[in-house]
Amino acid sequence: MEWENKRVLITGISGFAGSYLAKYLLSHGAEVYGIIRRRSDGRLPKNLIDRQIHNEIKVIEADLTDLAGLAHALDVAQPEVVFHLAAQSFVPRSFTHPLETFKVNTVGTVNLLEAIRVKEYDPTIIFAGSSEEYGLVISSPEQYRKLKEKYGHIFPEPENIPELPITENNPLRPMSPYAVSKIHGEYILRNYYYTYGLKTIVSRAFNHEGAGRGIMFVTSVITRQVMKYKFGEINKISIGNVNAFRDWSHVIDIAKGYCLLAKKGKPGDVYNQGSMRTNSVISYILLSLETAGWEIKKIETMKNNKVVQYPTEVDSSKIFGVKFEKTKLDRMLLENEIEFTLEDKGIWAHTDKGKIPIIFDPSRFRP
Ligand code: NDP
Repeated sequence: MEWENKRVLITGISGFAGSYLAKYLLSHGAEVYGIIRRRSDGRLPKNLIDRQIHNEIKVIEADLTDLAGLAHALDVAQPEVVFHLAAQSFVPRSFTHPLETFKVNTVGTVNLLEAIRVKEYDPTIIFAGSSEEYGLVISSPEQYRKLKEKYGHIFPEPENIPELPITENNPLRPMSPYAVSKIHGEYILRNYYYTYGLKTIVSRAFNHEGAGRGIMFVTSVITRQVMKYKFGEINKISIGNVNAFRDWSHVIDIAKGYCLLAKKGKPGDVYNQGSMRTNSVISYILLSLETAGWEIKKIETMKNNKVVQYPTEVDSSKIFGVKFEKTKLDRMLLENEIEFTLEDKGIWAHTDKGKIPIIFDPSRFRP
């Protein structure tokens, strides 16, 4: 599908990924319409201004929770492709605001599909599902045994252990209201494909990052702390989930992925999007420190003073880049099965300019 003069509608255009997607589509000649929620101050959302697309896109006021507004947006945009990105997208918030999450992510998605069906439009619809839908992924028989003890019969024995790399056929074991809402979204999309023939395609993207990422997400939380530390505003870096590993991509690659799905995806199908490289969040902190001017010599846990040698040759310039390789620290953690526990107070990062405390703070972790 060439984008020249193609009419596309983006829900979530004012968000992080939606604004990058809009910019990419505009640069390829598409006519871009986007839904934004009414704001009491009447101002344009910051992301649209930061991406410098506010003068080129056509914005339509609508809310996912209002079917009539969505029908109006479709009448205005008459889209050949709908990119459905709008969502309550922050996992921790879905625990404190589950109803809001379901209203926007599940009911909102049904509203959009119903508006398309009732109005008899026939666009290709790309849905932003999420890797969070996979939830628990089994990496060893020992882990399965522990999970079975905890979750019992609802946790049938996996066909393959380890369930890695994660493919679209992995079982979905959602662990948050957000993940459940996304599973509902993708199942209802497929249902509209089977029942009404709507051309629906599901993306399950892993984390994507870049400039403009919401300030509550882990990469932004770390980057802000590192800069505050650099300027003496704080005296430690805190992290919630001490053993988190993530697959990070650059947001532009995911935006291109959405476009590729619109062009080549098979209606009714599901597609993972990610880098297939895993990095630890701790490694991300250390690389951020390196980017900010410290050279990491080694790390040391605060509990038992066990010193883990950390190589200094990591190319930290790639911190937001798609070529971000698995670091030696990550390999050490994975291959030597070094797991930090909540009993560890944290780690010391020994650098060329002194040691920096990285403190484990479980209160930052999701419930
Ligand atoms: P953001 O939170 O940055 O953007 C969410 C967008 O949805 C915003 O434009 C927001 O509008 C809009 N929105 C929220 N509620 C409504 C509503 N009731 N009616 C209309 N619009 C609404 O998310 P991202 O850009 O990071 O993510 C885009 C999509 O991709 C989301 O569905 C997310 O769940 C999914 N995803 C993201 C990943 C990531 O790593 N970024 C990973 C996997 C999936 P407003 O500006 O008014 O708040």
